[in-house]
Amino acid sequence: MASSKKEDVAHVVHKIEEMGYKAHVIVGVERTVVAAVGDERGKERLISLEALPHVEKVFPILKPFKLAGREVKSDPSIVSAGKARFGGGFFSVVAGPCAVESEGQIKESARLVRDAGAAMLRGGAYKPRTSPYSFQGMELEGLKLLWAAGQETGLPVVTEAVTPDQVAVVAQFADMIQIGARNMQNFALLRAAGRAGRPVILKRGMMSTINEFLMSAEYILSEGNPDVILCERGIRTFETETRNTLDIQAVPVIRQISHLPIIIDPSHAAGRWELVTPMACAAVAAGADGLLVEVHPNPAEAMSDGQQSLKPERFVQMMDAVRPLLAVMKKELC
Ligand code: PEP
Ligand code: MN
Repeated sequence: MASSKKEDVAHVVHKIEEMGYKAHVIVGVERTVVAAVGDERGKERLISLEALPHVEKVFPILKPFKLAGREVKSDPSIVSAGKARFGGGFFSVVAGPCAVESEGQIKESARLVRDAGAAMLRGGAYKPRTSPYSFQGMELEGLKLLWAAGQETGLPVVTEAVTPDQVAVVAQFADMIQIGARNMQNFALLRAAGRAGRPVILKRGMMSTINEFLMSAEYILSEGNPDVILCERGIRTFETETRNTLDIQAVPVIRQISHLPIIIDPSHAAGRWELVTPMACAAVAAGADGLLVEVHPNPAEAMSDGQQSLKPERFVQMMDAVRPLLAVMKKELC
């Protein structure tokens, strides 16, 4: 529907719902698309909508991801929180410790990442650890400390929800919800995040294909939440020199098939702080829309992921390395 009126769109939505489909309105630069999502069987009936005067065309979406794909929305989506903006030429850096450990640690982290140019603060309160004996996070207390550090510094905050029942409290204290690699196919969690009313950073599972990654994003979108940021954080390969292998190709591949912003987490990809700046630079050169980086005031004392966390001065160096590349790529650092 080109330059559609509100009431025309509402009418189409109503008709689609009458036929038993869920309607998603996607307002693009050129036209408004109303995606009818539901049972594949009987979808021919939707063709009759072409008879409506304000409907330009009814066409089937061939890709398995209906809402995440470019078929339904050709212009890039921009996802924002506070001053952080991802996609459509905007680039933001999310930085902070792997986990919230204390009030002093998270507040110091917030100040130092903000002063170096990060637009958003990260910090895990609920940690999905490989071992049940490892530090599991400060939970609700950590969530409150993260929120307070964000308030004090003016930074929006993101933190992970590990289970569906944590989503509500995470949405209450954080500006964005992170879904971790180990949970990329936790469909109940994806659905809960889709209903939480907050943007979501969805991390790619370490054993997941790009197709599966986009299908997981589709779960969130299909619940009516259009604000999904995809995060490539390394996949598992036969290589043992690094924690994971950063699939840098995922950036241009996803760019071709999806309108969603895609960011890179070089910290979990590499598992070693020395590789973070080179991979952050590679991410910018590949066209990423942002970075998610672990920074700790004192990595040697970190309760998790210290070996891959940047010291404050190294984070400043990373930002200095990335800025000129952003200019070359015509990206605006927010
Ligand atoms: C994290 O961001 O600290 C984290 C646990 O990441 P991932 O889910 O990518 O392993
Ligand atoms: Mn971590």
